[in-house]
Amino acid sequence: MGGDTESLKSQVRKVFEGGGYVFATKAANIARDAGFTNPARLASNENPFGTSDAAINAAKEALCSGNRYPDETADSLVRALAEYHGDCGLKLNVVTGVGMDGVIENVIRTFIGAGDKVVVSTPTFSFYNLAVTAQGGVVENVRRREDFTVDVPEFVGACRGAKIAFLCSPNNPTGTITPAEDIEEILKGLLKENCMLFLDNAYVDFCDTDYRRLMKDYDNLIIGRTMSKAFGLAGMRVGYAFVPDWYLPYYKRAQTPFALNNISIAAAVGAIGDREFVKRYVNHVKEWRDAFEAGLKKYRMYPAGANFVMIDVAPQKSDDVVVKLAKKGVIVRSCASFPTLGDTFIRVSIGDSWENEMFLKAINEI
Ligand code: PMP
Repeated sequence: MGGDTESLKSQVRKVFEGGGYVFATKAANIARDAGFTNPARLASNENPFGTSDAAINAAKEALCSGNRYPDETADSLVRALAEYHGDCGLKLNVVTGVGMDGVIENVIRTFIGAGDKVVVSTPTFSFYNLAVTAQGGVVENVRRREDFTVDVPEFVGACRGAKIAFLCSPNNPTGTITPAEDIEEILKGLLKENCMLFLDNAYVDFCDTDYRRLMKDYDNLIIGRTMSKAFGLAGMRVGYAFVPDWYLPYYKRAQTPFALNNISIAAAVGAIGDREFVKRYVNHVKEWRDAFEAGLKKYRMYPAGANFVMIDVAPQKSDDVVVKLAKKGVIVRSCASFPTLGDTFIRVSIGDSWENEMFLKAINEI
């Protein structure tokens, strides 16, 4: 091949010289090498019950129109979501994206340019940082308290001069729910700073806190949601958000054309029609969260509102525990890569019953 690749590499932006998203592949390889062909997959917070038949059938049908571009407005999905959320009594503006990751990226694209400040409540989901940095923005991390609750005045104070702030509730990986009253206080404080709040509600289906009413009164609020979790469509990449009226055209202008494809749109509409599927899974998660708490003999579990729990395995190191569990056929996530969290926490998804039983047995043996 011709060319000086070192010179070509020097043209790539510095932000991509290192870093990147951390995927849970190492533990999966260890479990496979230990002979487990069907390990307990508890690292990625996926729905263990598969995909609803309604979604599968709709997706199969959509395959037949693969020669056509998708509806660029994903109108059928937007309408289905608006109707699904009609129970909150508000007419919500819905925008979509390729997973909530796609939504986050697009929102950041609309607000952030080189040197712009973004505040992130941390420890949390890593993609806000990656996406902001990719856009040339600068992140200020604001640490949660020792028990992972949010110090509201401190968070609001840190947002001075920021364009947007990110807060995840229930938080990944700690599971912490921030009360709606605290979010309202943050929104009021941020309005004075002319700052947006992106409230990440990826796991909100698994708790009883409802933030949607806040869309009525706060023009600086965007609520991100995903169909990857409760709806079981992680592989279809469907995310969405509630946005204020004034922001709608900006989001649409910034979005990559035809972001969602025919199949994911159809699958999502199908999945929304199968409420029983979602309900059954959510109930299963709630029951097993309690069973985890009762079944853990040696380690502390944090209160969680999500389809996963975070466990402190001190005095052991989380990376070591992940390897030990993988050798017993259980794949969980070490939280050592979450900045500021320390190296003794693991995150464990609520899986199918056999997977959860396998985990409890394995962790109590370590
Ligand atoms: N936010 C949080 C807190 C998440 O954990 C995830 C998924 N890992 C996402 C957003 C992105 O979800 P999606 O699959 O819709 O891109």
